[in-house]
Amino acid sequence: MKIFEEIESEVQSYARSFPRIFNKAQGEYLYDLEGNQYLDFLAGAGTLNYGHNNPILKKSLLDYIEADGITHGLDLHTKAKGEFLTTFNEKILKPRKMDYMVQFTGPTGANAVEAAMKLARTIKKRPNIINFTNGYHGVTLGALAATGNVHHRAAAGTPLTGISTLPYDGYLGDGIDTTAYLDKVLTDSSSGIDHPAAIIVETVQGEGGITAASISWLQNIQKVCRKHDLLLIIDDIQAGCGRTGSFFSFEKMDIEPDMITLSKSLSGYGLPFAVVLIKPEHDIWKPGEHNGTFRGNNLAFVTAKKTIDHYWSDELFSNEVRKKGAYIYNRIQKIITRYGEGNFSSRGRGMFQGLNCVDGELANKITKLAFKKGLMIETSGADDHVIKFLCPLTISDQNLKNGIDILEDAIKTICIEKNIFDEEVDYFHEDYEVKS
Ligand SMILES: *Cc1c(COP(=O)(O)O)cnc(C)c1O
Repeated sequence: MKIFEEIESEVQSYARSFPRIFNKAQGEYLYDLEGNQYLDFLAGAGTLNYGHNNPILKKSLLDYIEADGITHGLDLHTKAKGEFLTTFNEKILKPRKMDYMVQFTGPTGANAVEAAMKLARTIKKRPNIINFTNGYHGVTLGALAATGNVHHRAAAGTPLTGISTLPYDGYLGDGIDTTAYLDKVLTDSSSGIDHPAAIIVETVQGEGGITAASISWLQNIQKVCRKHDLLLIIDDIQAGCGRTGSFFSFEKMDIEPDMITLSKSLSGYGLPFAVVLIKPEHDIWKPGEHNGTFRGNNLAFVTAKKTIDHYWSDELFSNEVRKKGAYIYNRIQKIITRYGEGNFSSRGRGMFQGLNCVDGELANKITKLAFKKGLMIETSGADDHVIKFLCPLTISDQNLKNGIDILEDAIKTICIEKNIFDEEVDYFHEDYEVKS
């Protein structure tokens, strides 16, 4: 099909990494027009935590459509929205002793981030917000100002303002707590950093290279916020909805954000949906101040509710994610031992893991070859040097193994080709023969 070259904008990105025409999808599988099957370890960049066309969610959606349920409802009160709110409150917020108001924003992550940043600035009457190196919060102007990636920033065409960037956990090397620097610049009135309204942070940086902040670092961020009268915004758009093993990525860490953004896997079905959770005392919006035509995607409310009922009513799913996360972690450690600590290292938490290939060209060669072998997997990070494992959380144990086997196969081939394996590691004798 030439139509894509003919009239689709040059702005395409994922389509360039996976140049096939896709047609069907089920669970962790994607199929192209020729019927080739791919294991999907990209899963809509973390939007398909429950797989493609999850049958349980699909059933609730089809029933709802069949009964002429409301599809688009602006911000009108609807039965579907009421049921989502009730379920979210009863099964997600209350059991975690979380007290939040729910703001429905436009359906993208960036829109939720914009809303949270606007509200924080209005509450504190200060324009500045602190973000972190390699952070990713979306590409609309406000969110883009808080996004580190130079490629994305360069496209703004106008100065990106109202943000001061500080070093994320680990940015200055192991053993250096960058929150000490943060505290210092906020204490020193002449540091050059205007006193901010808020800090916006990802607990695990997705697009920035699957870098996980330590619990103590996140706790220190919260302490700094309280000490200096700043709001804490946790952007849980990619790390939330179960990816790290719990519904929110910061659970059991003694972290109480003032605002939380959720999107990506919130609908569970790949339907656009985003919210900001706001501590009641901060919900000072005036009616209609942050508007949007698509704040009422009722189809997403239906599947989001079903997702919570089915997967988040008890601990079973959470335990399963942790178990699979541990498996991925162990496989990555094996890869590192086999192919050299100088070439690879590991990143992440739960089923939000990355293999840092240090060099972007190497990571790219590996993912390209993996795709030829039937595995769809992407890279992230400043130089696209981190291979990110984002398979559906619902993937079968067997397919999880198969996918990582394909990836390891590709790593093996590329490492031999490039002759970069760690010579001290005798991996040739471990599990396969070399013909000389
Ligand atoms: C994807 C993402 C966003 C932006 O979401 P969009 O729907 O692409 O606008 C914001 N923050 C984080 C952490 C994300 O991963």
